[in-house]
Amino acid sequence: MRHVGAAPDQPTADGAHPFLADRATLLYDSLPLALTAVVVNGAILALVQRSVISQPLISLWFGTLLAITLLRLGLYHGFRHRGYTADATHWFKLFLIGVLGSGLIWGSSAYLLFPQDDPAHQLFVIFVVGGMSAGAVTTLAASFLALLFFLLPAMGPVIFRLYQLDAPLSDIMSAMLLLFLIMISIAARRSRTLIMESLQRRYQHQRTEAAMEHQAHHDSLTELPNRRLLVRRLEQEISRSRRHRYLAAVLFIDIDRFKTINDSLGHSVGDCLLREVALRLKRNVREEDTAARLGGDEFVIILSELGNNDTLVARKTQRLAEKIENLLSEPYEIEGHTLHVTPSIGIAMFPIDDADAEEVLKQSDIAMYRAKQLGRNTIQFYLPAMQQAAKKRLDIENELRDAVERGEMELYFQPQADAGGRMVGAETLLRWNHPQRGMISPADFIPVAEDTGTILILGEWVLQRACSQLKSWTEATAGQAPFTFPTLAVNVSPKQFRQQDFCQRIQNIIKQTGVDPQHLELELTEGMLIENIEDTAEKMEQLADLGVRLAIDDFGTGYSSLHYLTRLRLHRIKIDQSFVRDIPQVRRSEVIVETIIIMAKNLGLDVIAEGVETQAQLDFLKQRGCYTYQGYYFSKPLPREEFQRYFSSLGGT
Ligand code: C2E
Ligand code: MG
Ligand code: MG
Repeated sequence: MRHVGAAPDQPTADGAHPFLADRATLLYDSLPLALTAVVVNGAILALVQRSVISQPLISLWFGTLLAITLLRLGLYHGFRHRGYTADATHWFKLFLIGVLGSGLIWGSSAYLLFPQDDPAHQLFVIFVVGGMSAGAVTTLAASFLALLFFLLPAMGPVIFRLYQLDAPLSDIMSAMLLLFLIMISIAARRSRTLIMESLQRRYQHQRTEAAMEHQAHHDSLTELPNRRLLVRRLEQEISRSRRHRYLAAVLFIDIDRFKTINDSLGHSVGDCLLREVALRLKRNVREEDTAARLGGDEFVIILSELGNNDTLVARKTQRLAEKIENLLSEPYEIEGHTLHVTPSIGIAMFPIDDADAEEVLKQSDIAMYRAKQLGRNTIQFYLPAMQQAAKKRLDIENELRDAVERGEMELYFQPQADAGGRMVGAETLLRWNHPQRGMISPADFIPVAEDTGTILILGEWVLQRACSQLKSWTEATAGQAPFTFPTLAVNVSPKQFRQQDFCQRIQNIIKQTGVDPQHLELELTEGMLIENIEDTAEKMEQLADLGVRLAIDDFGTGYSSLHYLTRLRLHRIKIDQSFVRDIPQVRRSEVIVETIIIMAKNLGLDVIAEGVETQAQLDFLKQRGCYTYQGYYFSKPLPREEFQRYFSSLGGT
């Protein structure tokens, strides 16, 4: 059966009658030729037999022939108009009825138009019916059944009539006609086989073509359209929306922390998650929308025809994006794990100015990046200002490479204090003193350095510098009780920590600078610890053996579980400033801070609060048992000389 909507030139081999739809088409296509032959030969036969057969009988025969022919012509038109998209079996049956009618009328000529004693006119009937039957082999070759429906009723009566005749040679002629019938049936079977073979070849060819076409335009993991198809559809959508003056939107979706899941639970879990995400998207976009996968954990949805009022469309898009956000944030059950992930979504509307598909995609990508920067699990519309931010990022990327060599990097130090206000340590914070743009914050360039790999050079430089500095401060204050220089913390980036020889490098720096490792603290972030827990645990073990202190920075923002914490050689936890900032207004943050303090105590770890700015925050922390702090309340990060003056004033050199 032909599928609804299938193109007429695509064969389908399904059902009990292979290629029935295509064969029905072949049969109907040759119908005009067959019907012309019927009418012409019928008319000649009627004319020729007029002299030997009564007029009413001839009229009755020819009239019936014309009526059947007209009905078959009607069928032909019906099929041409509706048959391609309708049930092929139905049309095939109608064709059989038509062909049977035609066969019967030819067969009837053996009795109705067959004069008793006129061998010449008798022969003429046999000649015409035989000719029609031979011709039918070509027009009915696509179906052996249809051919039999014609041949048997057409030739059967002629053969029988000849057999009944009591004339010389009539028996032999009857037998030879029977032989003729058998021969053309055999010939017809052969041509039917040829037709089936060629249909089969065409079918396979088209199947291969369709598969290749699908492969070239779809992502093999999720079966969603790939980038190529997405761009093509987006181009079409942009020109359609220009033509019809409506607005549409592109959602750029990225799964937050997908890499962590992939690295910690394995690629098969990662793949399953992506497939599940794709499925949820596929099920929930409208028929006219497109959900595609760009690669990795990036998905794009084109929302078409949203309306023509900017504000209403923006609101509608926001609602749809929120719906998708909720949908993707539902827990996933994969290989025995319950995963909670969230998406970051960037939105670009179109058509705006003359932005093409690539441009619109880029805008939505920039908006998504901004959403990530704003703390993940957020939705952001593209604004031109973001483009500038992206440009800034590119500039930073280019200039960052040589910044160390040009001497534009500088270390700042932020004191850490105890409850009595005494300095118990400091954190090294990197600053980029850009010749044109002034002081650039590490929040702006560390992520770029991390992406491009420049962080390895930067990080090594920071470690070297910080350790030499630490060495000179500890030496200068040695024996100056009550003040000797305490610990200096240095931030370590994930890429740096993942280097195979990271511990060796630390050991070399310690050796070169001669620093006492007891005074050095490395700050690792939560996310990087669980990425590869085995490797992490081993490295932390080695570092702790060297005598270096280890802290988890920005604690509470990542994914670590108690289980991880108990496995690692850790000394300190730094409560992230986002929680401290909310004290005492936000109850939830208070609870988190309290919980972290209790947990650290129970695990025998030191705890320090970051971003302490007010007396109220300090009081709260003190009350709950956190006695070490870092924040503007005590001091901002200071350049080297100023920091030196700061701790000298406390009693150091
Ligand atoms: P972090 O390690 O969590 O550093 C603390 C950040 O909080 C610093 O920002 C510091 O200036 C800021 N801060 C300290 N006290 C307060 C306060 O009371 N209120 C507020 N609002 N902020 C406070 P900074 O220096 O901009 O550094 C940002 C981040 O850049 C750092 O966060 C760290 O993750 C990264 N970073 C800085 N230097 C380095 C480095 O040498 N290597 C690496 N890998 N990352 C670095
Ligand atoms: Mg830090
Ligand atoms: Mg921090």
